[in-house]
Amino acid sequence: MENQMQVEAEEHVFRSQFPAVPVPDMTLPEFVLHNAELYADKVALVETVTGKEYKYGEVIRDTRRFSKALTSLGLRKGKVVVVVLPNVAEYPIIALGIMAAGGVFSGANPQAHASEIKKQVEDSDAKLIVTSGSIYEKVKDLEVPVIVLGEERIEKTISWNDLLDAADHAGTAAINETVDQNDICALPFSSGTTGTSKGVMLTHKNLVANLCSTLFSVTTDLIGQVTTLGLMPFFHIYGIAGICCATLRNKGKVVVMGRFELRTFLNALITHEVTFAPIVPPIMLALVKNPVVGEFDLTRLKLRAIMTAAAPLAPELLSSFESKFPGVQVQEAYGLTEHSCITLTHGDPRHSHGVAKKSSVGFILPNLEIKFIDPDTGRSLPRISLEKSVSEANVSCKEETDRTIDAKGWLHTGDIGYIDDDGDVFIVDRIKELIKYKGFQVAPAELEAILLTHPSVEDAAVVPLPDEEAGEIPVAFVVMNKNAKENEEDIMNFVASNVTAYKRVRVVHFVDTIPKSPSGKIMRRYLRDMVEKRKEAN
Ligand code: AMP
Repeated sequence: MENQMQVEAEEHVFRSQFPAVPVPDMTLPEFVLHNAELYADKVALVETVTGKEYKYGEVIRDTRRFSKALTSLGLRKGKVVVVVLPNVAEYPIIALGIMAAGGVFSGANPQAHASEIKKQVEDSDAKLIVTSGSIYEKVKDLEVPVIVLGEERIEKTISWNDLLDAADHAGTAAINETVDQNDICALPFSSGTTGTSKGVMLTHKNLVANLCSTLFSVTTDLIGQVTTLGLMPFFHIYGIAGICCATLRNKGKVVVMGRFELRTFLNALITHEVTFAPIVPPIMLALVKNPVVGEFDLTRLKLRAIMTAAAPLAPELLSSFESKFPGVQVQEAYGLTEHSCITLTHGDPRHSHGVAKKSSVGFILPNLEIKFIDPDTGRSLPRISLEKSVSEANVSCKEETDRTIDAKGWLHTGDIGYIDDDGDVFIVDRIKELIKYKGFQVAPAELEAILLTHPSVEDAAVVPLPDEEAGEIPVAFVVMNKNAKENEEDIMNFVASNVTAYKRVRVVHFVDTIPKSPSGKIMRRYLRDMVEKRKEAN
């Protein structure tokens, strides 16, 4: 394995140890629905709660109808449609339909506050919104036409059913946009390395290339055989690309679940004979610790593997899971929205390429290169052998697409890690400002901005505190003005009334000043250390 890894002398660039895989010149909908006609009668999507199903034939039909309808509504190439929905069976059809029409799909969290959705709609200059009757209240005041899913008819909105029916009569001439692989097709929101949430522009090619890398080890005997749990939010890249697009590409079945509830989750795994469940560490924790699991006959599970991504996996949690669920393979994966989903992952032991070490986040996928740079000098660093201590190095990765971030095309991840002699990568920390609560992104800058709108708050800084259940929780340091009457809880409630539940500040410390560098930057590392010391002391 060692000699398969190539390292450039002057620049320490690590390449995948696997041969390159071809990236077909297709748009994402073409790639995902390739050969779907051959599986027309096979179920592609099924909802756990309602039992509603879409067969592959229906997925192709409705993706085309929706794409045609969008064009007749006047959606033009490159224009954004914001989708505010929980995980429903129609979700991938909607996303692929938007992309097939030349539009740009931007998923929003359905739990978000109206103000957060408004920001996403305005920042992306969205031309349309797709939502459901129960969420409509949150978007009704925005000056953008709204398509409402389901049977319900709401005044001043466009009904999804009527829209698709009308598309049947619109003739084929309605589709007039030529979509190219280099066109932008998705605009997921992420805070990146700093600041508040912003749209990440992903092209068809970015997403197709990432799926080609991710799915490199899927052998023909698995085509049409995998049943994947669709629990991770479809508005996030993990849900829409890593789960929906990957499973539909391989003609598997997505078992769609709107929200996590442990009994429903275990029931869904058993009833729908789920074989692959992509989840996040907090769900693994519930599976290991919650007594509810004891109510179920786990021998009925058909689960072959789980994938855990989006946040670090504690080694103790991994061992507890393995002893409770023997025979279920744990595939850790690492990726980021800016990189179109997965960058590093573990192998499947059934395949000849072998597996990465348990404590690592995986090996470099085909077509990808990564390098580790010294955050201070920007110079690339060599491989670190396991005996040496771990030096802090910022991971950068490069995908062989047109996606470029720095002048040489490297995407800077803001994560800290190293690679060992076998090519396994370990992520040890993060230098970017991001906080990850149960795998969800929380941008400190966004919470700081909200805190500063409180009349009694003079200054504020938000940093992560490690937490067993959530991974990390946001902790706020707040400077109150002299006449302030509010206590810490009042400040927490104030933030809670302005943000989605997962972004709530969980601890508030009143302080005299916020430590800042001479250039005025909040000294986050100092505050993080302080928080950890306080935690240890308690
Ligand atoms: P997102 O764009 O929401 O997927 O967040 C990406 C970030 O999540 C990465 O840059 C990492 O900081 C973190 N992350 C994702 N996967 C892992 C993992 N397996 N281990 C540690 N951190 C991870």
